[in-house]
Amino acid sequence: MNEIILLKLGELVLKGLNRRMFEDKLIANARRRLQSCGKFKVYTKQSTMYVEPQSDECDMDRAWEAMTRLFGVVGLSRARACEKDADAMLQTAIDYLGDKLSAARTFKVESKRADKTFPMTSIQLSQYVGGELDDKYPNLTVDVHHPELTIHLEVRDYAAYVHADPEPGAGGLPVGVGGRAVSLLSGGIDSPVASWMIAKRGIALDMVHFFSYPYTSEEAKQKVLDLAKLLTPWCGRLVVHVVPFTAIQEELRRSCPEELFTVLMRRFMMRIADRVARRIGAGAVVTGESLGQVASQTMEAMRATGAVTDLPILRPVVGMDKEEIVRIARHIGTFETSILPYEDCCTVFTPRHPRLRPTLAELEAAEAALDIGAMVDAAVDGIQRVKV
Ligand code: ATP
Ligand code: MG
Repeated sequence: MNEIILLKLGELVLKGLNRRMFEDKLIANARRRLQSCGKFKVYTKQSTMYVEPQSDECDMDRAWEAMTRLFGVVGLSRARACEKDADAMLQTAIDYLGDKLSAARTFKVESKRADKTFPMTSIQLSQYVGGELDDKYPNLTVDVHHPELTIHLEVRDYAAYVHADPEPGAGGLPVGVGGRAVSLLSGGIDSPVASWMIAKRGIALDMVHFFSYPYTSEEAKQKVLDLAKLLTPWCGRLVVHVVPFTAIQEELRRSCPEELFTVLMRRFMMRIADRVARRIGAGAVVTGESLGQVASQTMEAMRATGAVTDLPILRPVVGMDKEEIVRIARHIGTFETSILPYEDCCTVFTPRHPRLRPTLAELEAAEAALDIGAMVDAAVDGIQRVKV
């Protein structure tokens, strides 16, 4: 109960007039993530956010885990509260950070005094506590320039706090400050990473998944829902719009040249994503495309898919190598699920010789006989919305 979490706010402190909005969003996001960990008080003061448990039932370890995934936070530390008294702070440092004090070779004490009525200056407090710790731990010497360990003492209005160096936070901007986008989520490695990268820039997401039952199985759909769920600690709660895609694929296979199939299919994905975006008020479409990775990921193919919508298409992994994407996938926890072997709707219908550089004129000619509006309407009407 006398332990709290301190969060250092990131870029948002720079945003001047928008700062209040940024902080409010961050606080709201933090509260939502903490809901299942017990009752917490959350507030900001001087570009620090305080997360204070309100009862002994609070699960501090889970709260800490949740806060490490909160976009908008650059650093975080667990701190122990104690009386505003130099000896109490010294004793708290020994009790709370004893392991770290025993393991380090060099250290320093850094003090902050928000309560100006405190009888010692910051320097006096640091010198006193530092001197006592130096005596007590023979392994330690003081190094004020490059210490391995810094003991932070903060004297605030109602209590003093003792903590070690902050650990790196998730960075980015609070989800929601930049509006909303729809993200095309397949079962692969790239699209969960792309979604995460855009959420990190403060964008709330709705997911769209194209489902080709019975060519792809219920398990394949479940895998996508699992991936969406793995993203929620970062992105917040998500809606997955599951679009029935089989009829469109069969129609394309029946009436269009095989070598154009992939790009034609992607144009339909984009048209449907555009409709979902308009329905929910989203301002962009996110994909996990990376240049040159497969036939449909050339500049020409991107132009052709982009031509059916005027929404910006955000492709955050466009210039990344597979290894770089995999590294992020591991970091965010989606990799192991992404590599489970279930078929994707694109692999089921892959043409033997896809055209690498389709022209718009060819694609439009191939689509001329189709009733595009009716095909898109039918797919959109069949959308199943799943909350994860
Ligand atoms: P990923 O690893 O994300 O599946 P990929 O390298 O397999 O990507 P493609 O299959 O060409 O590449 O898909 C490119 C992008 O198109 C995906 O990153 C995703 O954003 C979108 N996409 C592909 N298939 C689907 C699908 N069935 N449902 C929703 N979006 C899809
Ligand atoms: Mg794929």
